[in-house]
Amino acid sequence: MSLIDYFAMNIVPRMYRGKGALHPAETGVLTDEVSCIREYDVNIFIIRKGETLIAIDAGYKNYAGFLQECRKINLDPSKVQALFLTHADPDHAGGLDIEQKNYFENATVYLGNIEENYLTNVYHRKKIGPFGLKNSVTIKDGYHMLNDGDVTTIGDIKIQTILLPGHTLGHLAYLIDDELLFTGDSIALNKDGGWCFFDIFNYDSKLNIQSLLTLKDRLDFDSLRYVFTSHNGFTADVKNAFSHIDVIPEWKQRGFIFDETAPYDCFSK
Ligand SMILES: [Zn+2]
Repeated sequence: MSLIDYFAMNIVPRMYRGKGALHPAETGVLTDEVSCIREYDVNIFIIRKGETLIAIDAGYKNYAGFLQECRKINLDPSKVQALFLTHADPDHAGGLDIEQKNYFENATVYLGNIEENYLTNVYHRKKIGPFGLKNSVTIKDGYHMLNDGDVTTIGDIKIQTILLPGHTLGHLAYLIDDELLFTGDSIALNKDGGWCFFDIFNYDSKLNIQSLLTLKDRLDFDSLRYVFTSHNGFTADVKNAFSHIDVIPEWKQRGFIFDETAPYDCFSK
């Protein structure tokens, strides 16, 4: 097991336990067009429109209950036509790793141009003292690269790419049909609204805040219907999703609980 996987699967759960920081949506149907799969603390999102089926992110490497979760939402993952990665971290891109069966076998994979540097280990994910933490995910060649502002059309679905650096340098958000915004690991959501994502995993939290403020200015809140996060569910209160984006939650403080309704430990089943 690589250092970053060990960190993700052993250290993170212990650190986050009881803090209410992670509260993904349960596997199920969320809106007319969006369903999700929960793997521990993260969501994979599936968008259906007419005959078109796409996914946002691929979840963890070798998640044992993946097909069982797919059945709950009547999903045959081989029918997914395109898969858009928000970033290359193991909880988002792990499901495409070459060392496991790729259930999204027929999907064209899209990935940020800058984010590719983590897959090829040109960039280190995070510095811990003198050590650079390397990414652990390798995905098959043939993926398509995206740049800020790119608009991709898959069947009946229009996907706009928004570069949102901070959590990672090439982190992307996706705006779908001007209505659905997938923010990946940039926003942490609770009953009071949306906050800058938890500091510990951000490459640069200040950069994340700056990116979110710019995005807030660019968005048309009249057409936007839902904002989705990868670790804290989603909201139809789209303006509130940006209410505290310039604040980093102090989730490590004693007695602090970010979301009282979150599971005590997302990693224990
Ligand atoms: Zn994540």
